[in-house]
Amino acid sequence: MSSEKNSNQTAVPASNFIRAIIEKDLGQHKYAEKKWAGSPGDAQHQQAGQVDSAKIRTRFPPEPNGYLHIGHAKSIFLNFGLARDFDGVCHLRFDDTNPEKESQEYVDSISDNVKWLGFDWQNGHESNLYFASNYFDFMYRAAESLIENGFAYVDEQSADEMRVNRGTLTEAGKDSPFRNRSAAENLARFREMRDGKHADGSMVLRAKIDMASPNINMRDPAIYRVRRAHHHNTGDKWCIYPMYTFAHPIEDALERITHSICTLEFEDQRPFYDWLLERLADAGLLAHPLPKQYEFARLNLTYVVLSKRKLIQLVEEKHVSGWDDPRLPTLAGARRRGYTPAGFKLFTDRIGVSKADSWIEYTILEDCMREVLNMDAERRIAVLDPIKLVIDNYPEGQSEDCFAPNHPLKPELEKRTIQLSNTLWIEREDFMEEPSKGFFRLTPGGMVRLRYGYVVKCTGCEKDANGNVTVVHCEYLPDTKSGTPGSDSVKVKGNIHWVSAAHAYECEIRLYDRLFKEANPGSGDRDFLDDINANSVQIITAQLEQSLQDAKPEDSFQFERHGYFVADKKDSVAGKPVFNRTVTLRDAWQK
Ligand code: ATP
Ligand code: MG
Repeated sequence: MSSEKNSNQTAVPASNFIRAIIEKDLGQHKYAEKKWAGSPGDAQHQQAGQVDSAKIRTRFPPEPNGYLHIGHAKSIFLNFGLARDFDGVCHLRFDDTNPEKESQEYVDSISDNVKWLGFDWQNGHESNLYFASNYFDFMYRAAESLIENGFAYVDEQSADEMRVNRGTLTEAGKDSPFRNRSAAENLARFREMRDGKHADGSMVLRAKIDMASPNINMRDPAIYRVRRAHHHNTGDKWCIYPMYTFAHPIEDALERITHSICTLEFEDQRPFYDWLLERLADAGLLAHPLPKQYEFARLNLTYVVLSKRKLIQLVEEKHVSGWDDPRLPTLAGARRRGYTPAGFKLFTDRIGVSKADSWIEYTILEDCMREVLNMDAERRIAVLDPIKLVIDNYPEGQSEDCFAPNHPLKPELEKRTIQLSNTLWIEREDFMEEPSKGFFRLTPGGMVRLRYGYVVKCTGCEKDANGNVTVVHCEYLPDTKSGTPGSDSVKVKGNIHWVSAAHAYECEIRLYDRLFKEANPGSGDRDFLDDINANSVQIITAQLEQSLQDAKPEDSFQFERHGYFVADKKDSVAGKPVFNRTVTLRDAWQK
């Protein structure tokens, strides 16, 4: 496993070879004459348009068959980011050419996620939101054109025969017995396919290229199949559907995409991408300049699964609470967890875009979130594992204001008031009756500063029948209040946080940890479900400073000494927020 962790923690973008390609293309004025009619369409439609005001066109083409995950964020920042940087436009295109498994729920969540990351598909009054299924008529026309020009044929071999005759990496394929039918015969057969005269799977339309090509993808790939399935957009209009490898280049060309960026597994498809578009352009159906495909390495991230199939399984088998479970690497989950668009931006800049497959350590993503939240999140006080501290020489019923900075790096955010009284909540781990070496917090006879308050001297504790400490006692030193003259006359080594019991907001907090305990869930012969971390969430009742009661959903804070927490967007109600731990202050997993 290779890690691309940057040793210097700056936001200097890592290399992005696609940026260099675009700079070169623009330098050569490759797209200076490209016309765009304001909407997708064929050559005739586009040539009647104006010179495109968008310098480049990219697209993000999700299939609406699941929720987006962190891998998709890389693709979104790449495609929308390049368009933004180069005065271009990025289309949001729903690649809905597969009639099964697609739904409006997915369309809505995907659109939401893209907007949340800070992008949109508007260009002036033009909305570049498209559905590939709107191109079915053109795709059908393109298929007929290929047939008429001798570049496609209807193959009636069985699926098994086709597989055997495709050959192998070392052996050329064999021509189908149906390969040399006349154009007229192929056209008639293809129309019968369209008209529902043939059973599902009984025949396919194939491009006629070269059964001996060293690239198996060029051995007469299937481009249309018979499939009786209801489509969410086109209903029952079609019983034949285009294959992805045929549909995708056409979608790009109709939308006048200049740079079609996809993941490496499509590299071997690129010759077919070019073959197809050139033939359709020669036939006068598509306008030049044609789109070009570029491949980059997909994001692989340790400790998560980024496969729609596995994510669906986690949700459907209820290993998590839903698509937006804060432990999932879906964007909906990451958002509830408190991950931020700025954090994702930093992450994608830092990992860069390359052609070499690699694994990125999950800690790099967490570091990016920490860095962004460190700057953006105000500080608050929370006691997560509370026990009582009673200041025996402080008057019962009295309270006073203490002042805590909202952000140590941003004094302009000023200070807030917190209340001190004679009974406080402190962390259980901040008291030790018999201190271990190097323990500088509360211990009988020892002194510690109550952060933003007084120095106190511990006088003892009370215990229950099982010997568990229930209450700690102390006395305060009146002249030592933080921020008052002479407050540091008494030197102490320890400093602990606290909230006043009478003023605290008692609140539910979810402490999330990694969903998988293995870096590569399911690697080797293991089932990825066996790698689930059984302790990935702990729900606790904590004591928070009062002001947190007013937190709005999705407000993020640093709880001092603990980490970053966000008010849950789903389960919080006004005046009663609950918090999710986004990330701890330091990496607890580092060995
Ligand atoms: P499937 O497994 O269903 O093919 P997919 O993850 O490829 O799913 P798509 O909806 O086809 O999902 O993806 C939309 C876009 O996101 C594609 O252009 C794809 O290349 C890109 N993408 C998907 N996964 C990653 C990833 N891990 N890293 C970078 N880009 C990705
Ligand atoms: Mg895909």
